[in-house]
Amino acid sequence: MSALVDVGLIDDVKRFGAADVSACFSCGQCTAMCPLSSNDGTFPRRLIRYAQVGMKDALLSSKELWTCFYCGECSDTCPTQADPGGFMAAARRYAIASYDKTRLAKTMYTKPVLGTLIALVLAAFFALFMYREHGPQHASALKLFDFIPEPLIHYTGVAVMALVGLAGLAGILSAARSIAKKEGLSLGSVVGRGAGKAWWSALWTESLGQKRYRSDCQTAQEASPWYRKRWLIHAMTMWGFLGLFAATIIDYGLALIHVKPTGAEVPIWYPVRLLGTLAGLALIYGTTMLIVDRLRKANRSASDSTFADWLLLTLLWITGVTGFGIELALYLPHAPAWGYWVFLVHVSIAMELMLLLPFTKFAHAIYRPVALFFVARGKEKEAGPG
Ligand code: SF4
Ligand code: SF4
Repeated sequence: MSALVDVGLIDDVKRFGAADVSACFSCGQCTAMCPLSSNDGTFPRRLIRYAQVGMKDALLSSKELWTCFYCGECSDTCPTQADPGGFMAAARRYAIASYDKTRLAKTMYTKPVLGTLIALVLAAFFALFMYREHGPQHASALKLFDFIPEPLIHYTGVAVMALVGLAGLAGILSAARSIAKKEGLSLGSVVGRGAGKAWWSALWTESLGQKRYRSDCQTAQEASPWYRKRWLIHAMTMWGFLGLFAATIIDYGLALIHVKPTGAEVPIWYPVRLLGTLAGLALIYGTTMLIVDRLRKANRSASDSTFADWLLLTLLWITGVTGFGIELALYLPHAPAWGYWVFLVHVSIAMELMLLLPFTKFAHAIYRPVALFFVARGKEKEAGPG
């Protein structure tokens, strides 16, 4: 086991947005406040200690890094302004960048000017790439796939997904290996006996169902009306994105099995269209609220916005709004010409969003369930057989 000390660790994490945690004297106040630390008397200050003494491997392999929801309760009561919640968020960014071998995540997190340039170039590239092959814009009816050919979108999407899969898988494997090793589990335990139950808990109960975010971390949200609860806004964003993704895949699936061609006219209540509409509304609501909260610095986690936060939110919001714009254009009595341009923007930004997923904050949506899986496996191990 590597026990090398990285003396620059604390400064490295600071580059990802952490406050100066060198002031932390391990008083334990954050541990007392944290709603997640009931079974662990050292969370989150143990991770701060790792950064202070340069234990990089220990920090990167900590499953606890991914259990924190950044409610900020610990930061509000820290006597030294070390901002432990902010440290946890920065350490997660640092971990995502460390697991990413392409180093693109590090650029997106730490170099906002270059990151902006990359984002603009990518958007322009996809738009020009699609537009290069464009067909006619019919005025009588909105024939979107006559304008941008469906096979071009399909094969570009497949290529993007393959790149994302390769980059994402490399990072996830690296994270899973180090967390499993620290927990005394083998990587094979991801498919072994009892794995199904642990995956269910990690993926459904904790991640998609947000059980602890809704219950344990709710103290910071008590004063908000239900439609402003942070867990709900987070859930709307996540479910909205997944719903749109599912609607796109199902639409292609229906074309493959000859139920209906992609882009065929369907009524608004057609199940896939309905799924896309509801998911789009959820995504627009969730991302708009997240943007408003960040602009207003409405809570602790919304007051520390990095370029990567804004980039992800902007791409998600544009994807949702342009998707809705396309739908509106499709059902208007006279096909508006702007519908074609909104479609081009939608497809280009959606491609960019997918391509950047492993390199933005969205990556934590993958790392968190992996870490939570090992949390569940660790508990099973502690409980022993029977
Ligand atoms: S981060 Fe703050 S509250 Fe937590 S142990 Fe350090 S000094 Fe105490
Ligand atoms: S931000 Fe909230 S969940 Fe995270 S360590 Fe602090 S108190 Fe715990």
